[in-house]
Formats: sequence, structure tokens, C-alpha cells
Amino acid sequence: MLDCLIIGGGPAGLTAALYAARGGLDTLVLEKTFAGGQAATTSLIENYPGFPKGVEGPELAMLLQSQAEAMGAKFEYAQAERLELNGPVKAAILPGGERREARSLILALGAEPRTLGLADEARLRGRGVSYCATCDGAFFKDKEVFVVGGGDTAAEDALFLTRFAARVHLVHRRDALRAARVLQKRIFAHPKIVLHWDSVVTALSGDTRLEKITLQNRKTGAEQTLPADGLFVAIGTIPQTEIVRGQLALDEAGYILADDHMRTEIPGVFAAGDALQKPLRQIVTAAADGAVAGWQAESYIGELED
Ligand SMILES: Cc1cc2nc3c(=O)[nH]c(=O)nc-3n(C[C@H](O)[C@H](O)[C@H](O)COP(=O)(O)OP(=O)(O)OC[C@H]3O[C@@H](n4cnc5c(N)ncnc54)[C@H](O)[C@@H]3O)c2cc1C
Repeated sequence: MLDCLIIGGGPAGLTAALYAARGGLDTLVLEKTFAGGQAATTSLIENYPGFPKGVEGPELAMLLQSQAEAMGAKFEYAQAERLELNGPVKAAILPGGERREARSLILALGAEPRTLGLADEARLRGRGVSYCATCDGAFFKDKEVFVVGGGDTAAEDALFLTRFAARVHLVHRRDALRAARVLQKRIFAHPKIVLHWDSVVTALSGDTRLEKITLQNRKTGAEQTLPADGLFVAIGTIPQTEIVRGQLALDEAGYILADDHMRTEIPGVFAAGDALQKPLRQIVTAAADGAVAGWQAESYIGELED
């Protein structure tokens, strides 16, 4: 029986492991793919504190994992297929039916960006195609960039990108934005932003990097192919929370609800990182959540033992 079982080995899960293990808990992280989660899939990370020259995603992932392991946390490559959260013993059931059991459990399941589903999208990801303007915007100084989406994130991304890009094209499938009025006002007034209403991206091209984007007007069917250095897809993220649906409160988009101590409604079950309902999904906020969750798991186990 472990003290703390962590599901997900991204920045949230690995930081939770660091805190829980350093707090003396017998801690195991289960990770279904690779350590570092989404952070490991990006090349240069320039906004994680402590790395003035930036750090490569895989390197940060390795550092986070080795720091947690140095504190005594164990790491296992396995997918939690099912979870049993209620009751004093929390369990993860692995594909072969094996169980990992603990007195506390931290959900650090993460999220995935929603993609456009275009043929060349995966190939050009990280080569002009991005799902995170906050992360990658600074790489597009004086460039021609496109943002797809019509909500608050797309509007904020477009405004943010005007700090770097020569021109920002905002592509939206409808004839009105869903974004907050205050953002819309700024968008309409901004000299660097070009709006493409009723439009969808139908093709991407470029050999080693994104070079061109094809837009189609949904009302007229007219197509145009434009030069493009960057494409920021801002049509939402998908939390990896199906595994807890029905056991825990989720918001309408599927994000886990937790309090500011990272407690869910089930005693002994905590949540951290991108899988949570929260305003900013970044490595630093995932790590911060993980720290609180690991520390709370330690307090919870301490109370059980008192
Ligand atoms: C391309 C890209 C670039 C980015 N660049 C930056 C950047 O420059 N700066 C920045 O701050 N942020 C960046 N981000 C965002 C950042 O990576 C995330 O906010 C952060 O990784 C979230 O951490 P997390 O641990 O909550 O979730 P994730 O990183 O998503 O990790 C969750 C982990 O849980 C695992 N998992 C899920 N379900 C299970 C299960 N059932 N069993 C076992 N394991 C499971 C997943 O495999 C995954 O490894 C970027 C994101 C992307 C996609």
C-alpha cells in the first residue's frame, strides 16, 4: 500500500511527486506515454523560471523526473485504465488488471490541444503550427501569423501576437466573435489585425516549415492561399478526464473542479495541472498546482495517522 499514487507524469504530476516524496510519502507516479507530458513535446521553453536562455522540453521533463526520483518518488510507465476513488483505499487498475493502491491519490491527467484535423497539421506542428501563443508567440517577430478561433482565447492570442508579428490574421468560421466585448473592441481597433469572417482553414503547406495557408469562405465557397509563417490554433483543449467522469465533479468542458488546496470533493483525492478548471494552463502553473497537491496529500496522510 502506497501513501500517494499520482496519475500522470507531466509537470503537475512530477512536481506533486517531488513534494509528496520529500514530505516522506511513499509515492508512485503512473505515466502512460512519456515523462513531461505536453511540455516534453515542445522544443524551446522560454517562460519557465530559472532558465534565462530557455530550456528544451525533453530536457526539462528529464530534470523534473530525476528531481522527483532523487527525493524518493517511484515512476512506472503504465496507463491507469480505471480508478477507484471512493473509500479509504484509492486504486488504479492497469491494462492487465493489476492494481496500484494508495491512501491518497493525485490526478495530474493533463489536457490536449484541440486540432483542426488537417492533413499536414501534425507534420508542421512545432514548425510554424502552434497551439499555444503564450508559449511560442515570441518566435514570430515581424512574421505573418494566423489565429484560428472566435472565443476569448483566440482573441487574447491575436492581441498578444500583435506584440511580435508584423500582421495577425484572425480566422473565424462565423460572422461574429464569441469573445468578450472588451476584447472584440480591441481586436476591431487594432491596425495589425486582419479579420477573415465565415472562414475555415482547409489546407497547410510547406516543406520544412509552414509556408502557406488556404482559407475557404463558408458562405461563398471562395478559396484563397496566403503566405503564412505561423498558425496558432485556439479552438480549445480537451482535458484527459474521461477516466474520472461520473466519479468527480467536472465542468461542462470536462475539467476537474478543485478548491485552492487542490482538493476534490472526495477526501484524499487531489487534482493538479491542465486537467483542472483554471485560468492559465502553463508549466509554471501546473508545477505550482502539483506542489500544493503534494503538500496537501502529505497533510492528509498526517491527519490519518494522528
Ligand atoms: C506544443 C506545446 C507547447 C507548449 N509550450 C509551453 C511553454 O513554452 N511554456 C509553458 O509554460 N507551457 C507550455 N505548454 C503548456 C504546458 O506544456 C502544459 O500547461 C503543461 O504540460 C501541463 O502540465 P500537466 O502535468 O498538467 O499536464 P500534461 O503535460 O498534459 O501531462 C499529463 C500527463 O498525464 C498522462 N496521463 C493522462 N492520463 C493518464 C492515465 N490514465 N494513466 C497514466 N498517465 C496518464 C499523460 O500521458 C501526460 O503525460 C505547451 C503545450 C504544448 C502542447
